[in-house]
Amino acid sequence: MKYLLFLVLAIHALLGCESRQVAAEDQAVEITKERLDYALAIHGGAGVIRRKNMTEEYEAEVREILAKALEIGENTLKSGQPAEQAVIAVISYLEDMPQFNAGKGAVFTYEGTNELDASIMRGKDLSAGAVSGVTGVKHPIQLAQKVMDESVHVMLSGIGAQQFAEEQGLEIVDPSYFHTERRHESWKKARAKADAKPQLSENGKFGTVGCVAMDQAGHLAAGTSTGGMTLKRWGRIGDAPVIGAGTYADDRSCAVSATGHGEYFIRYAVAHDVAARMLHGNKTLAQAGDEVIQQELKKAGGDGGIISVDRTGNIHMPFNTLGMYRGFVTPTNRGVAIFDDETF
Ligand code: ASP
Repeated sequence: MKYLLFLVLAIHALLGCESRQVAAEDQAVEITKERLDYALAIHGGAGVIRRKNMTEEYEAEVREILAKALEIGENTLKSGQPAEQAVIAVISYLEDMPQFNAGKGAVFTYEGTNELDASIMRGKDLSAGAVSGVTGVKHPIQLAQKVMDESVHVMLSGIGAQQFAEEQGLEIVDPSYFHTERRHESWKKARAKADAKPQLSENGKFGTVGCVAMDQAGHLAAGTSTGGMTLKRWGRIGDAPVIGAGTYADDRSCAVSATGHGEYFIRYAVAHDVAARMLHGNKTLAQAGDEVIQQELKKAGGDGGIISVDRTGNIHMPFNTLGMYRGFVTPTNRGVAIFDDETF
């Protein structure tokens, strides 16, 4: 079992960017029907992530944060809590980390504000919650969970979402809390250009965060949180809070969290498409993910990737960019990676 999982992860990591040219069938790995006790995967965004553009200190810092996030998620699952609790714990932690484009450290809109999007979905009963354009809620993922469990709605936005957060007793912060110098500098540079238009964070890095998990009872959950695109305007909403695009979970197939150029992920209903290919097309997790990310999306010009876990605890993390901050943990194995040539 342990070796099979390792094989799945190692093959995909080894193939790296070359795997993007390979047909999904060639990457397919026979998976066991035996279920792991728990499994969890995380991402911190995909994009033009090159070693030469990153200092050793920064790389070490980010790897440490990803490892810590995995530890938080694993402890939550080991204590017997449901998958969505692990997702919330992991994403809340990452929302506090200014290195990522979610919560504190979110990118700036055209007007120089931070507008946050997040969503969560539970695979057991297909319940879901999402928020978009919130400016004063410290942990948007926790608000998404409140929408899922404490409201009769699926998606709330802007001022109304914030009012609901207050009613639910969530931590409210001054919008300046989300301001970080690094993102502000990027914003200033981007804004100064004559053709200032929305872009996917600095140097093509995305920086959104996400988590998928399978708990000890075998249930799945997925969540995603982001500041969206630098210079986004007119209340632009990306894929992260759109159920079926940036986030999806169904115990019958898999849980998926995406990162990338949101407009493509919405149009191709990426997260749901992966689940649907498993459910209706009998594809494995790896086949379904590769078809969507390496074929459909790539053909269309949509940059990005996903993390995914199926109901037996297999993990697949395909991306069609130069890198994706990512990591996974199971009872027998764990790993963190950034670049496309990394093995676990
Ligand atoms: N998907 C996000 C968006 O388009 C961006 C990202 O993944 O970093 O808003």
